[in-house]
Amino acid sequence: MRPPVEQFALGLDAKTQQAVARASAMKTAGRPAVLAGAFTDVEAARQAAAETRDYVLDHLHDLLVEYESNATSNGWVVHWASDAHAARQIVLDILRDAPAGPVVKGKSMATEEIHLNAAIESAGRRVVETDLGEFVVQIDGDTPSHIVTPIIHKNREQVGESFAREGLGPRTDDPATLAYQARVHLREAFRTAAVGISGVNFALVQEGAVVVVENEGNNRLSTTAPPIHIAVMGIEKLLPSAADLPVFLRLLAGSATGQRITTYTHLIRGPRRSDERDGPEQTHIILLDNGRSEIMKSRQRAILRCIRCGACLNVCPVYRQVSGHGYRHPYSGPLGAVLAPSLEGLKAYGDLAKASTLCGACEEVCPVRIPIPDMLVQIRHRTVRQVGDPSPMPWTAYASAATHPGRWQAAVHLLPEAGGLPFLFSGWTQVREAPRAEGRRFRSWWKSR
Ligand code: SF4
Repeated sequence: MRPPVEQFALGLDAKTQQAVARASAMKTAGRPAVLAGAFTDVEAARQAAAETRDYVLDHLHDLLVEYESNATSNGWVVHWASDAHAARQIVLDILRDAPAGPVVKGKSMATEEIHLNAAIESAGRRVVETDLGEFVVQIDGDTPSHIVTPIIHKNREQVGESFAREGLGPRTDDPATLAYQARVHLREAFRTAAVGISGVNFALVQEGAVVVVENEGNNRLSTTAPPIHIAVMGIEKLLPSAADLPVFLRLLAGSATGQRITTYTHLIRGPRRSDERDGPEQTHIILLDNGRSEIMKSRQRAILRCIRCGACLNVCPVYRQVSGHGYRHPYSGPLGAVLAPSLEGLKAYGDLAKASTLCGACEEVCPVRIPIPDMLVQIRHRTVRQVGDPSPMPWTAYASAATHPGRWQAAVHLLPEAGGLPFLFSGWTQVREAPRAEGRRFRSWWKSR
């Protein structure tokens, strides 16, 4: 169990912190120009995207039923998973009847959320992450530190060391050589894979299809080379139809990586048709609830508009200091500070809502205009009410003084003589300067007039 965010930040080595801060800032830099080039009115596009996502949430039940019907007609086998355990079990059942061979996986936050890799390995199957960043995470026994760029906390020298240690080739820090070493290694896994697992960026109701976007081409191979493809998605990932894609694809690419469009956009309609040479014989889609129905009823409902672009992480001054690992959950940054406690409870993750300056940068960049700061304040409030406040700050004493004029006057007389705020707020002042009392007291000045 990792420590709370602030303690994690104090223990984070300078090299890692600098790598995260630099890479996050770089990813943010290209965003405004790219979005301005993609839309005549960026704000109108964000508003339209937010409204489309709200429409989906408002009609989620009916749209899911329609999606299931259209996807089934296309040949998908549709599975419903109420929680992480059910989703893992569905995958394991499919694997039990699958031919021998490794499981190749594209990057997917839903599978991180349900800890799928550990379950597959416990069942005795080899699973190979094929996204370059996720591959490094896997061979290092690490966890992703960003929802879009999992190894934002590592530099290329560290990747070179990992590859050399695993025997992928001579040690190098040249990105092109490292990519080549990974390609050679992964190609064998693709060639012999029995099952490919992917996430889903969007599921199109009218077309009964899924959309997967990527830059590396590994998802193309994971979803087409093996005879079985399993797609795992949260139930909220629907879009009404392919007509919605032009806005969402440009908003996603521009917000995530400052690209005009991702290198590959796959629309997958189901298994290989009789007149097609390539593609899987079976396609399964797992519709994962895992707490989302509860979020739908809560004040955090709008977090389900999220399209996992990662822009809120990149601009967050706290994320840049603590890295994704500080959040103790696959979903990190401002998104994680809302989603982790909403999915898994305030007791386990309510403290994450304090990991924010409430500067509002996350809401400003969010392509679907999620009011994250408001949600963080609500979660803080609920956490204090339901779990209690583990903070060392003596709020009870403060509240008592602030609501009784006599006590307040006594306190303001005593504090400067007793060393003032640093005496009371030693935890607070470890990383901040306490304000000093300066000049005359207001009350004595007022009396003298
Ligand atoms: S909350 Fe908004 S900015 Fe953050 S990942 Fe989701 S869509 Fe992107």
